[in-house]
Amino acid sequence: MVAATATHHPIASSLWHEPNDLTFIDADDLTGIVHYSAASKSRPGDANIVALDTATTATFCNCKASECGKPCWHQALVQAAWDGHPARILASRYSADQLRNAGSKAGHMCAWARHRRFRVLPADPLSLLACRAEYRRRFPAAVEVAAAAEIAA
Ligand SMILES: [Zn+2]
Repeated sequence: MVAATATHHPIASSLWHEPNDLTFIDADDLTGIVHYSAASKSRPGDANIVALDTATTATFCNCKASECGKPCWHQALVQAAWDGHPARILASRYSADQLRNAGSKAGHMCAWARHRRFRVLPADPLSLLACRAEYRRRFPAAVEVAAAAEIAA
């Protein structure tokens, strides 16, 4: 019997990985984008960076496969990685009041730091995006109405 080699498998490489193989880097409340990284196989010592637009679910990756227009496991799993982030899990357990308060506080902290020209603490944009994602999950219709109103304005 011949053992299957990792380089000749016919199945998508995302089956060889799990969301936890991606390492969270940062969240940007202004763009709604979160970044994750994973060690590069083609460039040892280097890291691939994968981005997820949390509003549109669009993904982007700088790995070799992605550069060649092929699907990569980073993009396939980044949404699941974001869904499993502790900040998202925390937000999913908030009551309606807690969700509103946490999102509002994080938004104010981001705005306050920028207004004062202080460094925005990384926990605040992360919390804000996690709360927004949870809000979108709970009230998809409300988000569509708000987006339509924004377009009409
Ligand atoms: Zn990739």
